[in-house]
Amino acid sequence: MKVAACGVCRTDLHVVDGELPDPMVPITPGHEIVGRIDAIGAGVDGLNLGERVGIPWLGHTCGTCGYCVAHTENLCDRPLFTGYTRDGGFATATIADARYAFPLGEVGTDVALAPLLCAGLIGWRSLVIAGDGKKLGLYGFGAAAHIVAQVAKWQGRSVFAFTRPGDTAAQAFARRLGATWAGGSDEMPPESLDAAIIFATVGSLVPLALKAVHKGGRVVCAGIHMSDIPSFPYSLMWGERKLVSVANLTRQDGMDFLRLAPRLGIITTTTTYSLNQANRALADLRAGRFEGAAVLVP
Ligand SMILES: [Zn+2]
Ligand SMILES: [Zn+2]
Repeated sequence: MKVAACGVCRTDLHVVDGELPDPMVPITPGHEIVGRIDAIGAGVDGLNLGERVGIPWLGHTCGTCGYCVAHTENLCDRPLFTGYTRDGGFATATIADARYAFPLGEVGTDVALAPLLCAGLIGWRSLVIAGDGKKLGLYGFGAAAHIVAQVAKWQGRSVFAFTRPGDTAAQAFARRLGATWAGGSDEMPPESLDAAIIFATVGSLVPLALKAVHKGGRVVCAGIHMSDIPSFPYSLMWGERKLVSVANLTRQDGMDFLRLAPRLGIITTTTTYSLNQANRALADLRAGRFEGAAVLVP
């Protein structure tokens, strides 16, 4: 496919920084790819030349391991991941397994759609796993949270946004997207929460999030990598609070979310960079220099 746009995700930083085990080397990062089909291999049905498709993080699954058979292909024992163990979208063209490509239709710009393919999809899976509680905390208000906040609001929930302490710009951004409350991650929310999703890669947020949820509440860690979680008193877990991680996505997650996204009217906030500015985009992501998501355009 010819790449039209590719989002820049926190996971790309982990790949570039060598924080994830056994990457393919050399690797072309990028797993939020929007592009058009330029050639089709033998045995591919249901896709057409010129069609706009999205390529997500999940690039291949084995289809035969226990996890695949149990409809949890996100946990597959022999997976391939776009931009990590197979080449991704920081490129002018890329090759994908057609079975893991999502038709995107023609509504929405390439740049606006790109962040939906990981920030949106992983955010969606995290939101589903967080349960149906009305009061939802989001720790780290970047690309994923800025989409999840819009979905949660559409579902009639109240969003409590936690940013780096003192990051009043990110807090204002969260309020503009409908957050009921926004503050520093070192603060407690004004009322106890039903669930919290941690998008930031900071392990010390785990005990804080457990403290912020009430009995029976859930804390979902949405990142692929996190700094060590400090020890904490068992009383923070007591009361049937649940602490879980979210790993990858299934194709069903993608279909569910991409079907819903146009109805929700999600507006992604993006900063575009040309392909040869990829390293600057990664540096700006690391430093938190933009709101929403960075997108590379070749
Ligand atoms: Zn498998
Ligand atoms: Zn990602």
